[in-house]
Amino acid sequence: MKRDIYLVVLLLLIIGCSLASLTLWKVMASRERALEDVNTHGLNLTQALSTYSEGIVRQSSLLLLGLVERLETEGAGPAQIERLSQLVKRQHPLMLQMSGITIYAKDGRWLMSSNRPTPVGANSSDRAFFIHHRDDPSREPFIGLPIRSRATHQWVITISRRFNDDRGEFAGVVAVTLGVENFLQLFGKLDVGHDGAIGLSFSDGSMLVRYPFREQDMGRNFSKSPIFAKYLVDQSVGTASFTSSLDGVERLYAFRKSDKLPLVTTVALGKHEALAAWRFEALLSSLVVSALLALTGAIGWLLIRAMSRRDAIESELRLTQQQLLDSNQQLERQAMHDSLTGLANRRCFDETLAQEIRRAHRNSTALALLMIDIDHFKSFNDTYGHPAGDACLQQMAVLLSACIRRPHDLLARYGGEELAVILPDTDNDGAAVVARLMLERLALESIPHKGSPFGHMTVSIGIACADGTDLDSSASLLERADQALYIAKQTGRNRLHAEREKV
Ligand code: GH3
Ligand code: MG
Ligand code: MG
Repeated sequence: MKRDIYLVVLLLLIIGCSLASLTLWKVMASRERALEDVNTHGLNLTQALSTYSEGIVRQSSLLLLGLVERLETEGAGPAQIERLSQLVKRQHPLMLQMSGITIYAKDGRWLMSSNRPTPVGANSSDRAFFIHHRDDPSREPFIGLPIRSRATHQWVITISRRFNDDRGEFAGVVAVTLGVENFLQLFGKLDVGHDGAIGLSFSDGSMLVRYPFREQDMGRNFSKSPIFAKYLVDQSVGTASFTSSLDGVERLYAFRKSDKLPLVTTVALGKHEALAAWRFEALLSSLVVSALLALTGAIGWLLIRAMSRRDAIESELRLTQQQLLDSNQQLERQAMHDSLTGLANRRCFDETLAQEIRRAHRNSTALALLMIDIDHFKSFNDTYGHPAGDACLQQMAVLLSACIRRPHDLLARYGGEELAVILPDTDNDGAAVVARLMLERLALESIPHKGSPFGHMTVSIGIACADGTDLDSSASLLERADQALYIAKQTGRNRLHAEREKV
């Protein structure tokens, strides 16, 4: 029963552990999937934004190339500048991201600006892009860090080319300005959540555009951030997860370095935010599984309680059964034994004698019977008192029992101060041996008895014996033994008498 309870507990534990570990595994797997999805989404976004940025830069470069070509072939005189101004005015609406086109003379003066009249005295010889072209003979386009436009006061990124004069000397710069606002409008349409961010930087870490816009990030160098310091060192596309040193928010980053241009696009999503749906799902799964586990536990507990109760009832039943058996045994003992001496009682004696007679008859074996009567017991009682008589009877029982050796021999209290011995498979001689042993033991013990002529306790024994063949009934055998006892009494007591011969 205890084992059954252990098995139920084990089963419940196995069910509980399996369910819990399976749920944990499922929840962790779905977290991995959610993170993978976020990374894929981020990488796709970087791909789209990178293509978009490259397209703008390439378009601007082409536009600049055409202008440089014309400036170099036709010169930068007022008439040519006026013609170019007309051309640019027509091209401007075709490039939505473009804020304006400006032509600078070799001293930094503004020769033309596409979207407004040229400010008087405007000079950009201090601008980084201008200094770059003036000092570097390269004809390649140059992407500059974000600056505040002197014309519109908006944040702009410049893409510029140098143009030369006839002698191949530096003659000025043509620059396209791209409004940061235009980029921000596009980036803002993409859902990157509350903690998300989109960035376009140079591959050296200098920030060109960042959404959400923060004034202090414009042109700032992020080369120390893990994306540039660690990941972009040996890979051009990838994902990363780390806590921002700026605001302490853990983000999932997807980054992509352009193949053709020194640009890096970064899309970052707040990890906590990105896992919100997963968290809800995990919470729901945990709740359902917890409820299931609680239900299983409750059913298990009820089952175990029922089993324990049944166990207790069964134990109680077993105990009661045992008590019943014990009291039955005791009753049986009481029914078959004499309470004073502990010897078999008359009832037991009668049953055993009948049984032994049947057996002797069946097996054709001899059966002997001793009838023992204590001599002058009445006077013992009179002399020493009845309780002493009782104690003497007990002592006699012990003494005479010691003379009985074989397991099937039975010494019984026949009644009062009379005892009887059934000796199966024993002839007259064997019975006499037992009787003599009794007389000797008693003499040896010498229990004082002042009222007896012998001075000590003595018995008289009558012996009757029968073969299995001539045995008719227990009554006759008893009668014969009684007769022999009578003769033993008559002939002086403290002796035995066998019915056929006197020993
Ligand atoms: P005898 O030698 O002829 O046998 O003389 P006796 O006195 O032994 O015989 P009698 O039949 O006259 O007396 C038997 C006495 O045994 C009477 C009775 O008080 C006593 N007796 C019988 N049963 C018990 C008993 O259980 N306890 C005690 N103390 N005495 C008992
Ligand atoms: Mg008597
Ligand atoms: Mg007597």
